[in-house]
Amino acid sequence: MIRIGLGYDLHRLVEGRPLLLGGLEIPSQIGEDGHSDGDVLLHAITDALLGAAGLGDIGEFFPPSDPQWKGADSKVFLSTAWEKIKTKNWKLENLDCVIALEKPKFLPWRKEVITSIAKILCVSPEQIFVKAKTGEKLGEIGTSQAIAVWATCLLSKED
Ligand code: MG
Repeated sequence: MIRIGLGYDLHRLVEGRPLLLGGLEIPSQIGEDGHSDGDVLLHAITDALLGAAGLGDIGEFFPPSDPQWKGADSKVFLSTAWEKIKTKNWKLENLDCVIALEKPKFLPWRKEVITSIAKILCVSPEQIFVKAKTGEKLGEIGTSQAIAVWATCLLSKED
């Protein structure tokens, strides 16, 4: 049995917050605003995996209205969701992500970000890919007011 999953997230970018991508801090003047640590990439991945397994979404598991998740480490969101998915015998085939971000350049950090995500999920880095696109200076992405991520995954299990 195979199942695809799709996750999407967007965060406002503000001064005085770290830019977190896949559990890694990328040097930047601005970072994601948010109730948790704001790691938009991990949020989209968590939703893609939960969606593929039909187990719900990140907002249900870790509601932003709940004070216990204020400033929460998004690695905990992803690893908690992934543990739950694995109890249903799902395996990850691959995960592919697109980050919409004007600056800084993502390419120099790609390998480290992929390694970080692979470590959280306990899978091979070869099962994960992450790429970035700019907003061509247009709209909220292009003027660095926001960062967005789309993540898609394929899960499999024996029938
Ligand atoms: Mg989010």
